[in-house]
Amino acid sequence: MKKLRLILGDQLNLQHSWLEEIDENTIYVLAEMRQESDYVKHHIQKVVGFFLSMRNFYTAITESGHQATYFHINDVENPQNLEKIISLLIEKHKIEKFEYQLPDEYRLDIQLKLICDTLNIKSEALDSEHFYTTRTELSEFYEGKKLLLMENFYRNMRKKQHVLMDGSTPTGNQWNYDSDNRKKYKGEVPVPTEKNFHKDVKAVVSEIEKAGIVTFGNIDLENYSWPTSRKQCLEVLNYFCSNLLEHFGDYEDAMHTDEKFLFHSRLSFAMNTKMLSPKEVIETVINYYYKNESTISISQVEGFVRQILGWREYVRGIYWKEMPNYAQMNRLNNTNKLPDFFWTGKTKMNCMSHAINQSLDDAYAHHIQRLMVIGNFTLLTQIHPDEVDSWYLGVYIDAIEWVEMPNTRGMSQYADGGIIATKPYVSSGSYINKMSNNCSKCHYNVKEKFGDNACPFNTLYWNFLDEKKSYFKGNQRMGMMLNLLNKIDPEELYKIKIKANSIIENMDSF
Ligand code: FAD
Ligand code: SF4
Repeated sequence: MKKLRLILGDQLNLQHSWLEEIDENTIYVLAEMRQESDYVKHHIQKVVGFFLSMRNFYTAITESGHQATYFHINDVENPQNLEKIISLLIEKHKIEKFEYQLPDEYRLDIQLKLICDTLNIKSEALDSEHFYTTRTELSEFYEGKKLLLMENFYRNMRKKQHVLMDGSTPTGNQWNYDSDNRKKYKGEVPVPTEKNFHKDVKAVVSEIEKAGIVTFGNIDLENYSWPTSRKQCLEVLNYFCSNLLEHFGDYEDAMHTDEKFLFHSRLSFAMNTKMLSPKEVIETVINYYYKNESTISISQVEGFVRQILGWREYVRGIYWKEMPNYAQMNRLNNTNKLPDFFWTGKTKMNCMSHAINQSLDDAYAHHIQRLMVIGNFTLLTQIHPDEVDSWYLGVYIDAIEWVEMPNTRGMSQYADGGIIATKPYVSSGSYINKMSNNCSKCHYNVKEKFGDNACPFNTLYWNFLDEKKSYFKGNQRMGMMLNLLNKIDPEELYKIKIKANSIIENMDSF
């Protein structure tokens, strides 16, 4: 039977069972499409990363003997959307069956189902063979439960998948080393330079420009750093094990103005495009740990495993449990617009300046920058979650809706009313001061709440609590914060609120 098999740009899994056998009656298709390059404004490095990785995947499968068709963005015969591409190829090759791998995005899931409904040949959706869990496994796990605590899901995953387990006990006799993962980085140990592939990407960037795709962010045309083939992704994984794992957990939550990546793996793009599987990443890291137990402690490894086996699978499960309603949630009724400095990086707040400029320069910021600096600011300034979501979805190299949205709208903006986070991730400047060196070089004073030089995070924090206090009054985890709010002298609170409003109205002046 003549088959057409679709491979989406984030399904670059060379280990998929589809590719085990060569069948001359099966044609694979990959396509660079305006449908995908334009659904949100993407960072230029993200578009480059996807196009190059797809092209390398196509080369790898055709070199190993598979039949495949590739549509480049400027090919004249490229119809630029899935429906037309599929029907064109079905007709051209007299296809009798269409197959696709289950997409990770709701938008594509619906589109592909609709396309299949209109086809007059057989069609089938198969597993992408990437995740540990199925789309519905999380819903089944929490069935009947009110609180969807990640920790419970994570422990169950450790047991079920036998990861870092000694029989039925967790390796090291402790499930979680979170409290050991909160060191401030003061240069105690040098940070190795990041793995950079120094690629010349002038040609692909000019193709993107010629196509008229509107992007944002910066790119070094001769030094593109991201891995775009399975081989390079494996190099990044091995580099992480031998150079960064030793201190990963210790400085997981730290920020430093001279160190953009600290000890983070930068593996999210490799995994989200499926060039690497989460299973092989975890197994490689754990095997490396077992061979190097004298230098690497369990807290570094558990911290890393928790992010992938815990958080990554958890947010995916939440996405499929809650979509499509999740995309509309705005429980705190936030309505403000993002300031321009999210696209220019021009702000006097040192922490924001570093986190935003790094995002624009590298299409990357690590977790705490995304959560406790940028996300903290957008929540405190009560920006509409749609605005926040589309910025995050566009700017980061690893941003695909299934992982971006639960993290942004849910964990960081509390727009889901607490499905993911039991309390909002908001803080005054003191948290940023505790975890970074930003404040010592800032225009603003982290100790002040409302004067001319007061740290905007302080002013905005107390204003946010005051504005949202009725929403949070029944939330026990907010009790201490709300008690502290009550103790602020009313005159002082009045000054804080006046100042906070002037910040919110003139965000680009701060
Ligand atoms: P490391 O710190 O080295 O962590 C290792 C791996 O753990 C990551 O590669 C990633 O696959 C996984 N991981 C860690 N935290 C999470 C998490 N919360 N959710 C899912 N996986 C996690 N991650 C994305 O992959 N895409 C996104 O679009 C995205 N958007 C985010 C938005 C916000 C507001 C926040 C707070 C977090 C977001 N994250 C997202 C999660 C996390 O910040 C990134 O996965 C991480 O920064 C990627 O860098 P790394 O590979 O160096 O991660
Ligand atoms: Fe950020 Fe405030 Fe610190 Fe400045 S003082 S770096 S604005 S937290």
